Amino acid sequence: MKIEVKKLNALGKYTGSFKFEYDAPADLCLVPLCKIDGKVKAEAKYEIYADDSVGVSLKIAYRITGQCSYCLKDAARDIEKVYDILFVTEDDSENYYYDGVNIDLTTAVNDSILFSQPNVVLCNDCAGIDADNK
Ligand SMILES: [Zn+2]
Repeated sequence: MKIEVKKLNALGKYTGSFKFEYDAPADLCLVPLCKIDGKVKAEAKYEIYADDSVGVSLKIAYRITGQCSYCLKDAARDIEKVYDILFVTEDDSENYYYDGVNIDLTTAVNDSILFSQPNVVLCNDCAGIDADNK
């Protein structure tokens, strides 16, 4: 999960994309009685800018399985989200910092998994009740 910015710059490859699969740490799932089922599929599109900052469009997709938050029956939910992230070489507390050489995406991917998590995971029955109430 690395972007070798310095090397890509030398090669003139200022944009590109790559896919990877990631085993999320078990404690990253915050939904009670649930876990992230299988690998997180991720796709990163990057663009290296003239000031060495790097924009990354990070798409993550994964499945959460476990027990329904309402009735404890088996439940599953598929999550898919895209986040636009900026890596900068001078720490500004707003964006992600990197050393100007390599970007390690681990922190950004973990953060994206946390941000994308639903508060509840519902079985089909309970999800139906929720839909009726809308
Ligand atoms: Zn339920």
